[in-house]
Amino acid sequence: MSIKALVSLYESFDPIWHVDMNQASLNLLNPQAADANRLGLLNPRISDLSDLLSNWSGPRPFRICSGGTSSRSAAAGQWTLNLRPELNQITWQNTDLSVWIGGGCRMGEVLQALLPYQQTIATGLSGLPGLGYILTGGMGPRSRELGLAVDHLLDIRGVWGSGESFWLQREFHGGSELWRGLCGAAPFLAVVSEVRLMTHTLAPLWVEQSSAPPRALPDWMSVAEASDVSTTLQWHWGANDRLELMKVHSKDPGTDRCYGISGLHQLPTLVPPGNEKDRLHSEVVGLLGPARSEGWRDCIPLLEDCMLRRPHPACSLSCQQLGGATTLAAKDATSFHHRDAVWKPWITASWIAGDLAMRQRSLQWLETIWSVLHPLCPGVHLAQLHDHLPFHQRELKQAFGYWLPGLQALKQQFDPAGNLPPL
Ligand SMILES: Cc1cc2nc3c(=O)[nH]c(=O)nc-3n(C[C@H](O)[C@H](O)[C@H](O)COP(=O)(O)OP(=O)(O)OC[C@H]3O[C@@H](n4cnc5c(N)ncnc54)[C@H](O)[C@@H]3O)c2cc1C
Repeated sequence: MSIKALVSLYESFDPIWHVDMNQASLNLLNPQAADANRLGLLNPRISDLSDLLSNWSGPRPFRICSGGTSSRSAAAGQWTLNLRPELNQITWQNTDLSVWIGGGCRMGEVLQALLPYQQTIATGLSGLPGLGYILTGGMGPRSRELGLAVDHLLDIRGVWGSGESFWLQREFHGGSELWRGLCGAAPFLAVVSEVRLMTHTLAPLWVEQSSAPPRALPDWMSVAEASDVSTTLQWHWGANDRLELMKVHSKDPGTDRCYGISGLHQLPTLVPPGNEKDRLHSEVVGLLGPARSEGWRDCIPLLEDCMLRRPHPACSLSCQQLGGATTLAAKDATSFHHRDAVWKPWITASWIAGDLAMRQRSLQWLETIWSVLHPLCPGVHLAQLHDHLPFHQRELKQAFGYWLPGLQALKQQFDPAGNLPPL
């Protein structure tokens, strides 16, 4: 059935749309999104997107699913546009060593597709996230050397929330407000059908994994802040008294504490798999802050106290390192506003699915840790949307700063009906 027919079916037989058509084709990796009582889902082709968005009269906003890893890739009472079935092409462009990536591709799929050409892209700590990884900034173990994923964009194609198609090229549109808006805030403005990204030569990496007590954290961070850009530190504080640390080096550090991997496609997980019997739901808030390892030292007792009071053992605090190349792009070139950021801590609030009291306590716990870290990390990395939570406006302000009114003007112009999430 064409999208036009689906839209008119919606208009004439509203109740039928409460039945989830194509349920089996939506592989949502985020349990909260998977469990959401969504109205339905559509699997649009590129050629359908324009008609769909310009003619839509059903409930808004749409939810978009690319990798399906975030809690808002589906939501109760809303429709999901599932980009995975139709927008899944990955095309190598030999002439300039770039790659076209469809709007529904996972980053691990891109890494695998580039292996035969001995090329790679700067992905994050997991291959599971989809295009949302790139569109919201995209940082990982090679960012200090190579920059953010958003800094590698060459072309962006898609459909504005209004239904109007666009094809922007860095060569011609870099420096414009439209390019700036899409590089970091696209989820509010457009459905991106494909992007073209610069690639890098595949090269070996060296991984060093260890654990330490939380009190040792500021020393680890201090060493990391002084280290060469070929090294990044990431850490995970899951258990009360234990930190998991992972250093990734792109130059052989010559120590037997490291083991070699042939690229990011072989990166081990930072977070050890839990042995949870319960089904868990969670929300994640990402923060951004400059190099302040001494400030972290002052915060450790407060953080230890928070960790002791976790509503659920799966509540955690993790962090990845930025700096180097991520600071080089001009502040107004993209919507990634916090170019001075050197640390991105992210707070995960978890609760047993359906336990609303625990959900409330976990979200309060998240806000407590956020307030402890705020003096050190005043920025937000808006990699997950929270327009259903009370701190959405605060996140928008802290993510986009003085550029927020500019983004809101773009939203007014290109998504006036609010087909995409509110800004
Ligand atoms: C295991 C794991 C590890 C992660 N590691 C990192 C990391 O190392 N570095 C990092 O920067 N982030 C990391 N993230 C965060 C992740 O990159 C973001 O949450 C990202 O937004 C997820 O993208 P997605 O396509 O999988 O999510 P989805 O849930 O499918 O979508 C996420 C959001 O992006 C929007 N979106 C997705 N695709 C499109 C599109 N084509 N057009 C318009 N809007 C779109 C959607 O509206 C949605 O709100 C990690 C997440 C997970 C689950």
